Amino acid sequence: MNIIMIGAQGSGKGTQAEMLEHRLGLKLCASGDLLREHIVRETPLGLAAKPYVERGDLVPDALVVQMILDFIRSRGSQGIALDGFPRTIAQAEKLDIDLGQMGQAIDRVIYLDVPRALLLDRLSGRYICRAHGHVWNIKTKPPQVPGICDIDGSELYQRSDDTPTKITHRLDIFFSETIKLLDYYGAQNKLARVDGAQPIDEVSRAVLTALRA
Ligand code: ADP
Repeated sequence: MNIIMIGAQGSGKGTQAEMLEHRLGLKLCASGDLLREHIVRETPLGLAAKPYVERGDLVPDALVVQMILDFIRSRGSQGIALDGFPRTIAQAEKLDIDLGQMGQAIDRVIYLDVPRALLLDRLSGRYICRAHGHVWNIKTKPPQVPGICDIDGSELYQRSDDTPTKITHRLDIFFSETIKLLDYYGAQNKLARVDGAQPIDEVSRAVLTALRA
């Protein structure tokens, strides 16, 4: 099963994609995490993508598509949970074409629906772990020891693109550009909407139910 999680920044799509990795044995593919790894390693892709990521702009389609397709090809036959990709219609079309050439397809697309005011509130409390990018939130999912990741004990930090101005910019792009994917996947009868404003466990239940439907 190949699944796409669509949701605005702070919607919890990364948390739910991780849940799908554990519950359904899917391979997690988080475009933002992959880009940040390239940036840290200073690969040619990382160097090219860095200014876009730092501004909160979309990285050009050609760069991101290549990175994701390389990842998908390298995973063998395991199903995949895509988090953060695609974000444009052009990316979605290219993904459909290339998966088709591999004899595969996207099976289901989940949209985590969260009101914008709640997104801003959640993002201001978001902390990420240095070692593996695990996501915590001082409001909705606090770590047991402040500043330390429960899972691997590494330090937590706030992302440099989680400032109020950059958050607003990224949300503007989501609600003007990425939101068009709902029509794209709705037309393919693959879209399920889940209320992402509920507590994390209830969202997880709703996501799993939507995938069984
Ligand atoms: P968020 O969803 O909060 O923006 P991510 O970690 O998913 O955080 O992405 C961080 C940044 O990586 C984005 O702001 C953007 O610059 C870049 N990025 C991630 N995925 C894509 C994509 N599919 N297309 C273009 N740029 C992307």
